[in-house]
Amino acid sequence: MSAGDVVGIEVERDSHMAVTFDDDVTVRYGVGELRLACPCATCVGRRNAGESVSPAVERGELVSITDAALAGAFGINLDWSDGHRTGIYAWTYLREAFDTGRLGTAA
Ligand SMILES: [Zn+2]
Repeated sequence: MSAGDVVGIEVERDSHMAVTFDDDVTVRYGVGELRLACPCATCVGRRNAGESVSPAVERGELVSITDAALAGAFGINLDWSDGHRTGIYAWTYLREAFDTGRLGTAA
């Protein structure tokens, strides 16, 4: 599939973001796993260096979404209650992470 066209988005700040793709697949991404999977350069660098991306999440604290804004047709920019706000989650990234079993659950 072309994985990238999204027909529905639902954000529950303290729980999850649900994304419906144009092949009628809806995926529910939990806030904790989403925060840890942040695709921004800073977080990628930390993961590659074996460092913590979000100490708060790893301590088991609830890190919620404080703001969400579409980044054109490309994806979504999420701000987090741990102060992090540079991550833009491309729809293709989210779908591939689900298809490969790394992120999300079918809703
Ligand atoms: Zn990040």
